[in-house]
Amino acid sequence: MKKYKFQDLKDRNLHLAEQLKAAAAKVIDSGRYINGECVAKFSDSLAQMCSVRNAVCVSNGLDALRLIFRAYIEMGVMAPGDEVIVPGNTYVASYLAVSDNGLVPVPVDVDASTLNLDTSLVEAAITSRTRAVMVVHLYGTPCWDETIKSLAKRYNLKIVEDNAQAIGAYAAVSGFSGSYATGGLGDAAGISFYPTKNLGALGDAGAVTTNDDRLAEVVGALRNYGETSRYHNAYCGCNCRMDEIQAAFLQVMLSDLEAENRHRSSLARIYNREISNPLVSKPTIFNDMGQVWYQYVIQSPERDRLRSYLDDCGVATDIVYPVPAYKQPCYRHLNVDKLPVTEWLASTVLSLPITSITSPDDAVEISNMINKFVF
Ligand SMILES: *Cc1c(COP(=O)(O)O)cnc(C)c1O
Repeated sequence: MKKYKFQDLKDRNLHLAEQLKAAAAKVIDSGRYINGECVAKFSDSLAQMCSVRNAVCVSNGLDALRLIFRAYIEMGVMAPGDEVIVPGNTYVASYLAVSDNGLVPVPVDVDASTLNLDTSLVEAAITSRTRAVMVVHLYGTPCWDETIKSLAKRYNLKIVEDNAQAIGAYAAVSGFSGSYATGGLGDAAGISFYPTKNLGALGDAGAVTTNDDRLAEVVGALRNYGETSRYHNAYCGCNCRMDEIQAAFLQVMLSDLEAENRHRSSLARIYNREISNPLVSKPTIFNDMGQVWYQYVIQSPERDRLRSYLDDCGVATDIVYPVPAYKQPCYRHLNVDKLPVTEWLASTVLSLPITSITSPDDAVEISNMINKFVF
């Protein structure tokens, strides 16, 4: 029986293997492994891609987000105990970046169509302690509209983007500085280059993108022990740098990102065209924004049965995410009221294979299997 894998990083990177090996050899022979020209060059490429003035390469996506909030605290923009509005439906790392800084994540429900933060519910969650809203471009769909833009202005809130899943995506409405690209919409953004992300390193890596020069400076210092010049520590920083070898790999991967995103987008269109089972609802394809399909997420009230049926058919799937972050044991103390859309999603979402190892024919075959699923 044919197997349809959900993801296979070796296969996915196979067509780039020679280039990646050459890039590694070059770094090895250079003798420079940290803070060298690969990181500098990749930062420039990334800043350009997100239409921002600064990209600061760091160790991973969580550290990118964590250092943004830490920098705002160092800058006196926020203080421990302040609140940050976060979406109910996201990866736990979005919350960890907030709580690790002594800030309080305030979960708000998501919209049933975008599956992102429901911006119409944000104003009611704002208190005198709210300092920021974190917009997460979940599954590769930008979370950005006029409402969030005007609320930020009216209440003087920072907008931090969790861009871990949406590099290369663009929104329908421009951001604060005119950019439509995710990573350039709000005040600052964190990106992850975890190997399974659309732009993945061969290990951990991440970056902060921002038009705020001061913020970039502080994040740049914080990632390197808080040093603002050699042996002068303005902050009690950390060691959150990106390796040269990962930057070199990422430069190679970046040349392939557009093709990867285009492939995913064509598979999403095939699934949306072919799947017609009334027990299954399909994600919305928005004509006015560019989604990059980190995940292709269907919903079904019979999700668990559908998943084991597909497993029997040889199709591997994933659930992103089965438990909302605020319901994790570590966030018990937040005492969040039920967020109905988020909790409905946790029990109904199912991700289908959508990376470059899945072919258009595979997508048609998988759709046909889904159409034969009966309860
Ligand atoms: C992957 C991810 C992160 C964390 O990135 P790491 O590089 O794994 O630390 C944060 N937020 C979201 C939404 C993610 O998908």
